[in-house]
Amino acid sequence: MSLNHSDYVKDIVFAFKKLPGIGERSARRLAFYLLSQNESVAYDLADAIKNAKQNIKLCKNCFNLSSDDVCHICNNPSRNHKQLCVVENPEIIYVFEKSGNYNGYYHVLHGLINPLEGIAPSDLRLRELTGRVETGGFEEIILALNPNSNGEATSIYIQKILSPYNVRMSILARGIPIGSDLEYVDKDTLSEAINYRKKFD
Ligand SMILES: [Zn+2]
Repeated sequence: MSLNHSDYVKDIVFAFKKLPGIGERSARRLAFYLLSQNESVAYDLADAIKNAKQNIKLCKNCFNLSSDDVCHICNNPSRNHKQLCVVENPEIIYVFEKSGNYNGYYHVLHGLINPLEGIAPSDLRLRELTGRVETGGFEEIILALNPNSNGEATSIYIQKILSPYNVRMSILARGIPIGSDLEYVDKDTLSEAINYRKKFD
Protein backbone atom coordinates (compact mmCIF):
# COMPACT_ATOMS: atom_id res chain seq x y z
CA MET A 1 0.00 0.00 0.00
CA SER A 2 1.44 3.38 -0.93
CA LEU A 3 1.63 6.29 1.49
CA ASN A 4 -0.88 9.07 1.17
CA HIS A 5 0.32 12.64 0.77
CA SER A 6 0.09 13.56 4.45
CA ASP A 7 2.43 10.72 5.39
CA TYR A 8 5.06 12.11 3.00
CA VAL A 9 4.61 15.55 4.52
CA LYS A 10 4.91 14.08 8.02
CA ASP A 11 8.23 12.49 7.08
CA ILE A 12 9.65 15.85 5.97
CA VAL A 13 8.29 17.62 9.07
CA PHE A 14 9.80 14.91 11.26
CA ALA A 15 13.21 15.37 9.58
CA PHE A 16 13.16 19.18 9.89
CA LYS A 17 12.16 19.00 13.56
CA LYS A 18 15.45 17.27 14.33
CA LEU A 19 17.30 20.46 13.35
CA PRO A 20 18.28 23.00 16.02
CA GLY A 21 15.82 25.83 16.47
CA ILE A 22 13.12 24.25 14.31
CA GLY A 23 9.84 23.53 16.03
CA GLU A 24 6.68 21.90 14.72
CA ARG A 25 5.33 25.03 13.05
CA SER A 26 8.57 26.02 11.29
CA ALA A 27 9.07 22.44 10.17
CA ARG A 28 5.59 22.35 8.70
CA ARG A 29 6.07 25.69 6.96
CA LEU A 30 9.36 24.54 5.39
CA ALA A 31 7.86 21.25 4.29
CA PHE A 32 4.87 22.85 2.57
CA TYR A 33 7.11 25.53 1.06
CA LEU A 34 9.42 22.95 -0.49
CA LEU A 35 6.51 20.94 -1.82
CA SER A 36 4.88 23.97 -3.39
CA GLN A 37 8.04 25.03 -5.26
CA ASN A 38 9.44 23.87 -8.55
CA GLU A 39 10.98 20.45 -7.91
CA SER A 40 14.53 21.76 -8.55
CA VAL A 41 14.37 23.73 -5.27
CA ALA A 42 13.89 20.56 -3.24
CA TYR A 43 16.27 18.45 -5.33
CA ASP A 44 19.05 21.08 -5.22
CA LEU A 45 18.75 21.21 -1.43
CA ALA A 46 18.73 17.43 -1.09
CA ASP A 47 21.72 17.10 -3.48
CA ALA A 48 23.74 19.81 -1.75
CA ILE A 49 23.29 18.13 1.64
CA LYS A 50 24.02 14.67 0.26
CA ASN A 51 27.15 15.80 -1.61
CA ALA A 52 28.48 17.62 1.42
CA LYS A 53 27.85 14.68 3.73
CA GLN A 54 29.52 12.28 1.30
CA ASN A 55 32.59 14.43 0.79
CA ILE A 56 33.21 16.15 4.09
CA LYS A 57 34.85 14.35 6.98
CA LEU A 58 36.54 15.40 10.19
CA CYS A 59 40.18 16.50 10.08
CA LYS A 60 42.26 13.82 11.82
CA ASN A 61 44.21 16.48 13.62
CA CYS A 62 41.83 19.22 14.79
CA PHE A 63 38.39 17.66 14.00
CA ASN A 64 37.34 20.58 11.84
CA LEU A 65 35.24 19.71 8.81
CA SER A 66 37.47 18.84 5.89
CA SER A 67 37.33 17.29 2.45
CA ASP A 68 40.78 15.78 3.06
CA ASP A 69 42.18 13.71 5.93
CA VAL A 70 43.87 16.84 7.27
CA CYS A 71 42.11 20.21 6.89
CA HIS A 72 43.46 23.24 5.02
CA ILE A 73 44.20 25.07 8.28
CA CYS A 74 46.26 22.25 9.82
CA ASN A 75 47.98 21.90 6.46
CA ASN A 76 48.97 25.57 6.33
CA PRO A 77 52.57 25.92 7.58
CA SER A 78 52.42 29.71 7.62
CA ARG A 79 50.01 29.84 10.54
CA ASN A 80 51.18 30.62 14.06
CA HIS A 81 52.47 27.34 15.50
CA LYS A 82 52.43 28.68 19.04
CA GLN A 83 48.68 29.23 19.35
CA LEU A 84 45.88 26.71 19.66
CA CYS A 85 42.29 27.89 19.90
CA VAL A 86 39.80 25.46 21.44
CA VAL A 87 36.26 25.74 20.06
CA GLU A 88 32.98 23.92 20.55
CA ASN A 89 32.17 23.20 16.92
CA PRO A 90 33.41 23.79 13.35
CA GLU A 91 30.98 26.65 12.85
CA ILE A 92 33.01 28.73 15.33
CA ILE A 93 36.12 28.22 13.20
CA TYR A 94 34.17 29.58 10.28
CA VAL A 95 33.30 32.70 12.31
CA PHE A 96 36.91 33.12 13.52
CA GLU A 97 38.31 32.77 10.03
CA LYS A 98 35.86 35.36 8.77
CA SER A 99 37.02 37.77 11.48
CA GLY A 100 40.51 37.44 9.95
CA ASN A 101 42.08 38.21 13.29
CA TYR A 102 43.45 34.86 14.35
CA ASN A 103 46.23 32.99 12.64
CA GLY A 104 46.94 30.06 14.93
CA TYR A 105 45.54 26.55 14.83
CA TYR A 106 42.28 25.14 16.20
CA HIS A 107 40.94 22.19 18.12
CA VAL A 108 37.24 21.29 17.89
CA LEU A 109 35.70 19.61 20.93
CA HIS A 110 32.39 18.77 19.25
CA GLY A 111 30.33 19.77 22.25
CA LEU A 112 30.58 21.11 25.78
CA ILE A 113 30.37 19.33 29.09
CA ASN A 114 26.66 19.28 29.90
CA PRO A 115 25.61 17.18 32.91
CA LEU A 116 21.90 17.82 32.30
CA GLU A 117 22.11 16.30 28.85
CA GLY A 118 24.51 13.61 29.97
CA ILE A 119 27.48 14.94 27.96
CA ALA A 120 30.60 13.95 29.86
CA PRO A 121 34.25 14.96 29.24
CA SER A 122 34.82 11.56 27.61
CA ASP A 123 32.25 12.46 24.92
CA LEU A 124 34.40 15.37 23.75
CA ARG A 125 37.72 15.44 21.87
CA LEU A 126 39.61 16.17 25.08
CA ARG A 127 42.01 13.24 25.06
CA GLU A 128 43.08 14.34 21.59
CA LEU A 129 43.50 17.90 22.86
CA THR A 130 45.82 16.74 25.62
CA GLY A 131 47.79 14.75 23.06
CA ARG A 132 48.24 17.77 20.83
CA VAL A 133 49.28 20.01 23.72
CA GLU A 134 51.74 17.35 24.87
CA THR A 135 53.50 17.08 21.53
CA GLY A 136 52.52 20.18 19.54
CA GLY A 137 54.85 22.76 21.08
CA PHE A 138 52.03 25.25 21.64
CA GLU A 139 52.73 28.16 23.97
CA GLU A 140 49.21 29.50 24.32
CA ILE A 141 45.85 27.74 24.48
CA ILE A 142 42.92 30.07 23.82
CA LEU A 143 39.65 28.81 25.24
CA ALA A 144 36.98 30.21 22.93
CA LEU A 145 33.92 28.52 24.36
CA ASN A 146 30.47 30.02 24.73
CA PRO A 147 30.09 32.21 27.83
CA ASN A 148 27.47 30.03 29.50
CA SER A 149 27.61 27.50 32.34
CA ASN A 150 28.54 24.59 30.05
CA GLY A 151 31.27 26.66 28.39
CA GLU A 152 32.66 27.65 31.77
CA ALA A 153 32.55 24.11 33.14
CA THR A 154 34.40 22.91 30.05
CA SER A 155 37.02 25.67 30.29
CA ILE A 156 37.68 24.81 33.94
CA TYR A 157 37.95 21.13 33.10
CA ILE A 158 40.43 21.87 30.29
CA GLN A 159 42.49 24.06 32.57
CA LYS A 160 42.72 21.16 34.99
CA ILE A 161 43.77 18.54 32.45
CA LEU A 162 46.31 20.86 30.81
CA SER A 163 47.81 22.09 34.07
CA PRO A 164 50.76 19.63 33.87
CA TYR A 165 51.91 21.27 30.65
CA ASN A 166 53.84 24.44 30.28
CA VAL A 167 51.26 26.44 28.33
CA ARG A 168 49.59 29.77 28.87
CA MET A 169 45.79 29.58 28.99
CA SER A 170 43.65 32.49 27.79
CA ILE A 171 39.95 33.12 27.45
CA LEU A 172 38.19 35.58 25.18
CA ALA A 173 37.68 39.05 26.57
CA ARG A 174 34.32 40.25 27.73
CA GLY A 175 32.26 42.06 25.14
CA ILE A 176 30.62 38.85 24.13
CA PRO A 177 27.31 38.92 26.01
CA ILE A 178 26.95 36.28 28.71
CA GLY A 179 24.80 33.41 27.53
CA SER A 180 25.14 34.30 23.86
CA ASP A 181 26.27 31.97 21.13
CA LEU A 182 29.64 32.68 19.55
CA GLU A 183 28.12 31.62 16.25
CA TYR A 184 26.04 34.77 16.21
CA VAL A 185 28.64 37.27 17.38
CA ASP A 186 29.63 39.76 14.69
CA LYS A 187 33.20 39.64 13.45
CA ASP A 188 34.27 42.98 14.97
CA THR A 189 33.13 41.92 18.44
CA LEU A 190 34.93 38.63 17.98
CA SER A 191 38.11 40.37 16.79
CA GLU A 192 38.06 42.51 19.93
CA ALA A 193 37.44 39.50 22.12
CA ILE A 194 40.52 37.82 20.63
CA ASN A 195 42.70 40.93 20.79
CA TYR A 196 41.83 41.62 24.42
CA ARG A 197 41.79 38.01 25.57
CA LYS A 198 42.98 37.52 29.09
CA LYS A 199 44.81 35.01 31.18
CA PHE A 200 42.56 32.22 32.42
CA ASP A 201 43.17 31.38 36.05
ZN1 LIG B 1 42.60 20.37 10.99
